[in-house]
Amino acid sequence: MRQDDWVIIDGDAGVVVVDPSAIILAEYGFKQRQNELDRGRLTRLLHTPAVTMDGQEVELLANIEMPEDAAGAIKAGAVGVGLFRSEFLFMGRQGKLPNEEDQYQAYKRAIEGMQGLPVTIRTVDVGADKPLDNSLRDDAYFNPVLGLRAIRWSLADPAMFLTQLRAILRASVHGPTKLLIPMLAHAHEIRRTVALIDRARAELDNRGIAYGAVKIGAMIEIPAAALALKVFLKYFDFLSIGTNDLIQYTLAIDRADESVAHLYDPMHPAVLGLVAGTIVQGKAAGKDVSVCGEMAGDVGFTRLLLGMGLRSFSMHPAQILAVKQEVLRADAGKLAEWAVQVLAQEESPGRRRAHRGLLHGRRRSPTGETSLLTAGKRRRNGPKGTDTAV
Ligand code: PEP
Ligand code: MG
Repeated sequence: MRQDDWVIIDGDAGVVVVDPSAIILAEYGFKQRQNELDRGRLTRLLHTPAVTMDGQEVELLANIEMPEDAAGAIKAGAVGVGLFRSEFLFMGRQGKLPNEEDQYQAYKRAIEGMQGLPVTIRTVDVGADKPLDNSLRDDAYFNPVLGLRAIRWSLADPAMFLTQLRAILRASVHGPTKLLIPMLAHAHEIRRTVALIDRARAELDNRGIAYGAVKIGAMIEIPAAALALKVFLKYFDFLSIGTNDLIQYTLAIDRADESVAHLYDPMHPAVLGLVAGTIVQGKAAGKDVSVCGEMAGDVGFTRLLLGMGLRSFSMHPAQILAVKQEVLRADAGKLAEWAVQVLAQEESPGRRRAHRGLLHGRRRSPTGETSLLTAGKRRRNGPKGTDTAV
């Protein structure tokens, strides 16, 4: 690829075309205008409440990566942030971690940016596909998918974790805030995490610093967590299902490895069983359950998730109106009967659909947008991570 070459990123098909011919360029130009028209039509739904035809209210939340993304979430009609991936504050800093004040200011900006709507801040999830710093990819810093990632990394460095917890607790005085913990699997990890949250509160008390009432939730993204939910229901106020990792770990498919992407199947009966089981058990215990992986923002899964009983979806802001359209057309009662049949199937019912839609979890564009840009003049259309494909 040379400077000023045209590059087409087809987020829908997961394809990048470098230096396309005139015919391909014209074809994609047409597709792009068509997408813009479709999106224009959807903006009519911006202020329409997300309620199914049979009156079920559905919460459509945004996933964000930086405090500044809050503005886009509001503009897209999100009723809150269901996942603030705080690791992006930690990444690309040559290993120098943000201090309590830096983090507090960042969380405060996100919370204030949401103008009174709730913000769920996930504690840092570096490792695997999100290394702290690419230049530091040696044994100490490059964490493979099964390694020292997310909460494991936080618990290995309690001082660092406490700094983040204090910053989030402090920021919670500026608006409704929830705290979300990634990648938990063991009861002892849960107990240590809860103890450290208590300790962070105590440290702020000792310093005479105010903090808000923060609900604590756990990501369900390791099969062990979904299969041993009881301990999660005991300690946490809410659950958020991370389907990107849940699929990866259930099927033993590295979500960043193209060579096995054809086996990354959200519709595999094992995956659907874990998702449905978590929703049913969570709701039966009176806990809020959300899905914040890419499945939540893919309209191909909206009806099935509604049928499983899900009423809270968190996704890239660009997907909110398309998912809302599906919700408005849905009859949740009928979908519940249909979902029972889908869950009973022995084979993955939608392999083709699954392959097309969810390659890589976070790494592909969830917008499904087609963007035309030149190598010298990059224009960001998708979320961070989208244009890494260029
Ligand atoms: C997930 O695993 O589905 C998720 C939302 O977290 P992340 O993509 O950041 O790992
Ligand atoms: Mg995850």
